[in-house]
Amino acid sequence: MNNTAEHFMRMAIAEARKGMREGNHPYGSVIVKVGTVLARAHSTGALSHDVAAHADMSAARKLSKKAKTRDVKDCTVYATGEPCPMCSAGLAAMNISELFIAANYRHLPPQMNRGRKRPGKITYKEIFKEYGLKVKVKEGVLKDEVLKMYDEYVRKRPGE
Ligand SMILES: [Zn+2]
Repeated sequence: MNNTAEHFMRMAIAEARKGMREGNHPYGSVIVKVGTVLARAHSTGALSHDVAAHADMSAARKLSKKAKTRDVKDCTVYATGEPCPMCSAGLAAMNISELFIAANYRHLPPQMNRGRKRPGKITYKEIFKEYGLKVKVKEGVLKDEVLKMYDEYVRKRPGE
């Protein structure tokens, strides 16, 4: 189980790194159902100036378009960063059943999140609850690898 989680989280980190190489923020997301990757995405907002182009939201949008339904059900999401309220609502609309998170807002280097606060007070947990969803969550999967990536990102962009 842990090995499976790490396998897919590594894929999410690879996505995040791909985005980072392109000049985007280092966030990646992979959506899996019964061991099969259905969608993967990285944040593209820094270059596209699209406020909704977060990794989790982009993966959810790709999947719902591909599946031709918003309600894919029983999916597991591997997110390198804690989903923001917008992404949490997107994932909730898809009825996800499991969520693995590598690093939370409080783990972000200050250059990436001044004050280490999440955007708004609402957490993904509260959003899932509002949607009446019971999502199995595990935080901290490959957290150190993601923190290393954040560190590289911050060192390459000292002005940000
Ligand atoms: Zn988001």
